[in-house]
Amino acid sequence: MPELAEVEIVKRGLEPLLGGVLLDLTVKRNDIYRVFDPVKSLDQLINGKLIEIHRHGKYLLFIFSKPDAPTDEDLILLIHLGMTGKLVYIDSEDMSLSSMQDLIRHKHTHLVFHFDKGLLIFNDVRRFGKVRLFDRNLLYKTSLTLSNIGPDCLGPDLSPDYLYAQGQRHPTLKMKSFLLDQSILAGLGNIYADEVLFEASIMPDRLTSSLTMKDWTRVYKAIQTLLIQSIYNGGTSFRDYKNARNESGNNQNYLHVYGRKGLPCHRCGRSLEAAKIAGRTSVYCPHCQKQA
Ligand SMILES: [Zn+2]
Repeated sequence: MPELAEVEIVKRGLEPLLGGVLLDLTVKRNDIYRVFDPVKSLDQLINGKLIEIHRHGKYLLFIFSKPDAPTDEDLILLIHLGMTGKLVYIDSEDMSLSSMQDLIRHKHTHLVFHFDKGLLIFNDVRRFGKVRLFDRNLLYKTSLTLSNIGPDCLGPDLSPDYLYAQGQRHPTLKMKSFLLDQSILAGLGNIYADEVLFEASIMPDRLTSSLTMKDWTRVYKAIQTLLIQSIYNGGTSFRDYKNARNESGNNQNYLHVYGRKGLPCHRCGRSLEAAKIAGRTSVYCPHCQKQA
């Protein structure tokens, strides 16, 4: 499942589309998207110019402006890649490649955005992804448009102080659940949550109330370091994740705990263990990660 690092890489790969005008739209499945009043149809994007692309946690926001329309009529296309969603940009030079033609015709390609600069493909095999269209006024106003999402893990609002305060507000949460809760901090999923806890030497089932300011500072630094490292490595690809050029990343070769149950800890050599926390498997080193 793409997490913050992978979504950031997709975003960077789509930046060549900035300034492009949407000429047409092919919708292969109508149940793949939702629109919110006053927007009536995805077709309202046509003739819009893509002026900004933002990422908040695992969400991508594409801002379209209409010619001669005021800013508050800008439309926001929100996309979450879910488990297996892919956004691939095909520029006019690559359009004739057979791999790209296969992707356009692929049975799980649900949306094709025809820009003057090339195509943007939304493909999602398992269909847990989200595509929503609303006008700028609605952004952060309802839970469907990000009102209940916490600060971005790489944004300016995340700090050791913020994490400490949230830990006090949610004292009985286990650390793994805390890190996965997108309303507290946005961007981590199962892979990076496990890696952050290993890096910060904290057991995944430890209660947030037991962490000192020093512990939270380590958690904060681990979040920053690991996400930036993963972006540098092109993201983590196990099965499905692909960047905006439909290529895999490399960061899976740099993970310490995720997917390594029973294998030796890179730090102490003892066997890594696994436990279910908040319904998700956590892999950890019982020797290197501390309960208190
Ligand atoms: Zn260890």
